[in-house]
Amino acid sequence: MTRQRVFAVITAVAVTLLWPGVDASARPRRQPRHTAPPTLEVPPETRLLVIAPHPDDETLAAGGLMQRVHEGGGHVNVVFLTDGDGYPEGVQNEGHIETPAAGDYRGYGRQRRREARDALAALGLDRASHTFLSFPDGGLCKLTRTYWSERRTAYRSPYTRLDRPPKSEMIVPDTEYRGEDLTQEIARIIGDFRPTIILAPRKEDQHADHCAAWFFLGDALTDVRRVHPDYTVDVLNYVVHFYAWPFEEDGPRLDPPPGLRGGVSGWLRFPLTPAEVRTKRAALRKYATQMHVMDWFLDGFARANEVFSRPAPVRVVLPSRRNLCCDQ
Ligand SMILES: [Zn+2]
Repeated sequence: MTRQRVFAVITAVAVTLLWPGVDASARPRRQPRHTAPPTLEVPPETRLLVIAPHPDDETLAAGGLMQRVHEGGGHVNVVFLTDGDGYPEGVQNEGHIETPAAGDYRGYGRQRRREARDALAALGLDRASHTFLSFPDGGLCKLTRTYWSERRTAYRSPYTRLDRPPKSEMIVPDTEYRGEDLTQEIARIIGDFRPTIILAPRKEDQHADHCAAWFFLGDALTDVRRVHPDYTVDVLNYVVHFYAWPFEEDGPRLDPPPGLRGGVSGWLRFPLTPAEVRTKRAALRKYATQMHVMDWFLDGFARANEVFSRPAPVRVVLPSRRNLCCDQ
């Protein structure tokens, strides 16, 4: 048995064991073997807010879902928390520069922003469907605790040497690289857009920025509910980085990450049409800087379905006393 085959068997067993029932209120009961996970239904006129720590996460996780919402007459808004500019290997590769300077990192971020716009356009989404917050790539976890408030100086990116987003990108005036500023920006977007579904990274995602993105969303939702106590929203999670998932298997189906539970609803499968998969792949191709360094990674997500999970009711209050995500 090949290593790949052994892993496939382990995966199948793990997934069979870990898919819980669809109804969180029901008593746990034994699932029939080989039960397929439930599918995610998209109501008409859905207002979908996607929280993307870096340009490309939104298309990797939900390129199909975003197309479906748009086709169904709904609205999609993608919030890019960072420009993805803190990626030395990417900058070195793209610019053929051995030791990139701050200007090189900033240029790389601008390029990734252009790619994000092109990717969303390839999915059929217009220019109004996204917001760049330009927070520090690689620095979000530190903002959940150490660089939370005005009690100390703002975080400065070791890559771009910036300590705040450009004025043109600020939602809230005078925003700097502090956790409470990021929470306020996300809360403002939620309050204005009033999404019916919010899709955000799972806290178990092994990239520290992704994990931190979950806590910022939770904190922002807590703020929004303080002002709008009746506001309800369906919060869903996605995973991009979890050990070697999803590359152990190269079949058309995207199975949930082995070893990670599906949360209160169990894993939710979202099947794509062949045309949706083709469009998703075409959108991923727009991320040329990322294709140059990890095309295998991006292609691994262009499959016949996407997978999401639903978290327990969100109760997050930042700042945290612990480094929630920085040890990832
Ligand atoms: Zn990412």
